Amino acid sequence: MRCRVIGMWGGYPKENGPCSGYLIEQGNFSVLVDCGSGVLMEVQKYIDLNDINHVMLSHYHYDHSSDIGAYLFSRLVNTKIGRANEHLQIYGPNDEDIKRKVEEVEYSKFSSFNEKSEIHIGPFTFTFLRNIHPVETYSIKIESENSKIVYTSDTSYMKELIDFAEEADLLIVESSLYEDMDGSSSGHMNSKEAGLLASQSKAKKVILTHLPHYGDLENLLKSARNEGNENIDLATPGMLIEL
Ligand code: ZN
Repeated sequence: MRCRVIGMWGGYPKENGPCSGYLIEQGNFSVLVDCGSGVLMEVQKYIDLNDINHVMLSHYHYDHSSDIGAYLFSRLVNTKIGRANEHLQIYGPNDEDIKRKVEEVEYSKFSSFNEKSEIHIGPFTFTFLRNIHPVETYSIKIESENSKIVYTSDTSYMKELIDFAEEADLLIVESSLYEDMDGSSSGHMNSKEAGLLASQSKAKKVILTHLPHYGDLENLLKSARNEGNENIDLATPGMLIEL
């Protein structure tokens, strides 16, 4: 299994860096997890949009989902001109408005998931944990035969994440805030909490994501590593992690 970081900025994209998006692949099979602002343009550096038929959305904040509308139109156009022959399957938390918006565009379908769901897509199994965030949001675990990726999406620190992420081969953990900032009230983690989760879960490799646009990110990284797991790096657009 491999993970390509497409984007990792919290809130809004930078000039050359999108918001959340991760391309999870094994062999020729690809699933896009989150599709925030800037992702649809950036992901085409690595794969044809018609070669992704499954998109998993952790929640519907714009920095995780806003490019999905254009993705639906791309599938519509490419099906009509004969370049795509499968529908685009979108998965996300239950939301009638989103389902209607997805399915009113021809050649796209929507399926919802919740904490009890187990979704099998190609070589992957997806399971979910409900987060602490202002809207319904899930941490996502992706397992293949030999490896396991856990992506926290957006959440305040919570103990349930330790088990959920236990011994993940790759933990993609949000670190929206610096150590001296409070995440518990905003539905986010600071760098100390992200580092703590990395350490407590014994994740084998960790990347910090959903990064802030201000401050010195090296300090963010240092603070996370201080919690005991040294195998932590900052996510960057284009970063490839092979498991
Ligand atoms: Zn959010």
